Amino acid sequence: MTVYADNAATTKTSKTAVAAMVDCMEKYWGNPSSLHTVGQEAAEVLADARERAAKILGCEAREIYFTSGGSEADNQAIISAATIGERKGKKHIISTSIEHHAVLHTLKRLEKKGFEITLLPVGVDGIVSAEQVENALREDTCLVTIMYANNEIGSIQPIAEIGEVCKNHGVLFHTDAVQAAGHVHIDVKEQNIDMLSLAAHKFHGPRGVGLLYAKKTIPLTNIIDGGAQERGKRAGTENMPAIVGMIAALEEAVSNLDKNSAYVSALRDRLIEGLSKIPHSALNGDRNKRLPGNVSFCFEGIEGESLLLLLDEKGIYASSGSACTSGSLDPSHVLLAIGRPHEVAHGSLRLSICEENTREEIDYIIENVPKVVDYLRQMSPLWHDLEEGKKNHVI
Ligand SMILES: *Cc1c(COP(=O)(O)O)cnc(C)c1O
Repeated sequence: MTVYADNAATTKTSKTAVAAMVDCMEKYWGNPSSLHTVGQEAAEVLADARERAAKILGCEAREIYFTSGGSEADNQAIISAATIGERKGKKHIISTSIEHHAVLHTLKRLEKKGFEITLLPVGVDGIVSAEQVENALREDTCLVTIMYANNEIGSIQPIAEIGEVCKNHGVLFHTDAVQAAGHVHIDVKEQNIDMLSLAAHKFHGPRGVGLLYAKKTIPLTNIIDGGAQERGKRAGTENMPAIVGMIAALEEAVSNLDKNSAYVSALRDRLIEGLSKIPHSALNGDRNKRLPGNVSFCFEGIEGESLLLLLDEKGIYASSGSACTSGSLDPSHVLLAIGRPHEVAHGSLRLSICEENTREEIDYIIENVPKVVDYLRQMSPLWHDLEEGKKNHVI
């Protein structure tokens, strides 16, 4: 059996999205900026895609900017707010310690340019409160950027409450909703969101495409200069097939959201219950305020990478919270932020499931993870120290 349980990294492109993309490539291959009929037919398809995206998010079509993905949308949102703030002498930004690197590294860059960044700590549940945000606000705060849902531990933030605090204080609010879009209900007006990023490949759309919603009163800063595409804010001939595929996938995800969410969260709960039986294990993130498909655990006495390799041999495709793949031996900043000690954070496992997973697959994971964890512990000097009482168990 093979089980794909790494949907937080990317999802399989849906048949609906693929069909929409092929149709677009075959019929609407014109350049939407061309004035002739072939171009204008493509322009109509693009306008239609923008309207459908706006309808789903609860905004106007002119507030949607298509990008190359979540990272670009995050960069543009943050740089735009910083540019607006700088003109008014406001150079303070509030965010959290568990953001995606697309946000954290953009903030680092701004810090080098003289911005002050407050990274709010999260609780053991991986959640920040609206009150924390309110207390951190200053006269010179130009932006609050807080992710909707975390990609590693699945924790969901109180976005509407944070949005309200920001609105009341007249501070721009951006949310990286890459993990949330298509999985939880989003309405930018109701939730007082000024800017929002999403990426198609996290909800069964294609890679390399996303969008930035920005309230019409916000003058965006270009990251890519050139032609007048995207109302002059993002140059480059539009990636039509990808955009059309993204909207098809988003509509599909949103129209099945309640059904999928109920099904996937039941599988998630079964998986959490099964893996909780492993001694000295701990669930990462809040038990309830978490994405329907996210299961994240730490197991004491093992290395996440070895666990992934052995699970791969059994046909289980998962991920670990640590960043060893990027050449660094530092454990995940998210797991450290929720208070996991270094050696515990190294033994992490993220299983991110979707509506295509079956109960049999979940049971296959529940059967195999404990065996592999046990096998690795038997070979681990750290585990033997823990068992012999030379070191104390932390979880
Ligand atoms: C995947 C992801 C991103 C990056 O999106 P890309 O489309 O890969 O650039 C940003 N933020 C979060 C929370 C993500 O999960």
